[in-house]
Amino acid sequence: LLGRKEISSVELTKAIIERTKNTESKVKAFLTFDESDAIEQAEASDARRAQGKVLGPLDGIPVSIKDIICEKGKQLTCGSKILEKYISPYDATVTTKLKDAGAVLWGRLNLDEFAMGSSTENSAYQSTSNPWNIDYIPGGSSGGSAASVSAGQTIMSLGTDTGGSIRQPAAHCGIVGLKPTYGLVSRYGLAAFASSLDQIGPFTRSVEDAAMILQVIAGHDSHHDATSYKTEIPDYRKALESKKGPWKIGIPKEYFAEGLSEEVRKAIQGAIDFYKSQGCSIVEVSLPLTELAIATYYVVATAEASSNLARYDGIRYTHRSEFAADLKDTYCKSRAEGFGAEVKRRIILGTYVLSSGFYDAYYLRAQKARTLIRKDFLNAFEKVDVILTPTTATPAFKKGEKSSDPLAMYLEDCYTVSVNLAGLPGISVPCGFTKAGLPIGLQLIGKPFQEAEMLSVAHAFEKAHDFKSKHPQL
Ligand code: GLN
Repeated sequence: LLGRKEISSVELTKAIIERTKNTESKVKAFLTFDESDAIEQAEASDARRAQGKVLGPLDGIPVSIKDIICEKGKQLTCGSKILEKYISPYDATVTTKLKDAGAVLWGRLNLDEFAMGSSTENSAYQSTSNPWNIDYIPGGSSGGSAASVSAGQTIMSLGTDTGGSIRQPAAHCGIVGLKPTYGLVSRYGLAAFASSLDQIGPFTRSVEDAAMILQVIAGHDSHHDATSYKTEIPDYRKALESKKGPWKIGIPKEYFAEGLSEEVRKAIQGAIDFYKSQGCSIVEVSLPLTELAIATYYVVATAEASSNLARYDGIRYTHRSEFAADLKDTYCKSRAEGFGAEVKRRIILGTYVLSSGFYDAYYLRAQKARTLIRKDFLNAFEKVDVILTPTTATPAFKKGEKSSDPLAMYLEDCYTVSVNLAGLPGISVPCGFTKAGLPIGLQLIGKPFQEAEMLSVAHAFEKAHDFKSKHPQL
């Protein structure tokens, strides 16, 4: 519509602003937004278009960012009181790339504190609702990113995925969520949770949108992120049509064991039957170490978090206790006041597994298990092109249902964390609804840096189904 000049970016942006204002008291996806700033960006985009200087397909499109990724001059709370007044001094690489592509940056999205959680109930500021039923959680930690796209409050958003925080909320909110291969997208300007697992990725309404925004944010960042990878970036959108299958699709038997809800199982079986009907071969594969994934993840991730979060010391950044008597007291009281319960739990656990005497027993063993988990996947990928699983074992749960039981909350990630441990790309696409009207997500896992293939497989499913045209009634 923008290209055909049927609407302007200002009109689109104003519609998004209005929709946000009309729904936000229920959804609570945004921590802040700045209307006049968004309209100014939209005006600049319209001016470029009028002069024939369009910067690309995202020019003039509202995109919103999780409040853990730097946007110069804007707040960066990470969902934490410890950063309540912190302002980003620079743009993250992904933010720069979105600006260079002409996107209209719209608002800062809610999250679990420092991206630790699966329900967005760990935010120090507010808990976001699932737009399909506001008594339910939207998933997490990128709950604001998922809910805002699902509710039509923005066109696309960015989130982060350390153990499932893009795919799980995308599944619960009925939209597409893509976690790229570790190293495909620069982490510069992303406040670190677990540096060896964190990746930034998009939330969109369609697979094609995901391909378009991935095109913008992917790529080696030679100046700022030594873990970003030098690899050729294909034309993802073109690949959706050119890569047609039929594919060899692996079904890991360990992902269909106990704990999987009947409604989810049925929806996933429907997807498997669809691919079969398209001539794909369905191959049973085994990922024998699946049962170790959660334990391995919660050792590796907390160890890295305890180290990364040491920088919030009450001296640098914002929160400093008013009640501290000396330097050590400043560290202790500022951190005690600034961090929430879940973040403290992780820092304590991570410090424990790294401490002398326990390092070999926990951290080192977890690193070894991680290597073996990756090998399991690489073995499976000798036989298949992609792996298909449910994204989550159950649909979204009610707010408050798991907040007092950390272990139950950690089990939310049982189908997603292995993908991060192995560094692979994964995508969640809508594949059905429960009787109660809650969305169900299908996860496709790709080979390293084979996002184009994974997106094509997802696209083939999406094209043949009509989940995208359903909208939550807010
Ligand atoms: N839910 C997982 C956790 O709490 C994953 C979070 C994430 O991917 N950021 O650690």
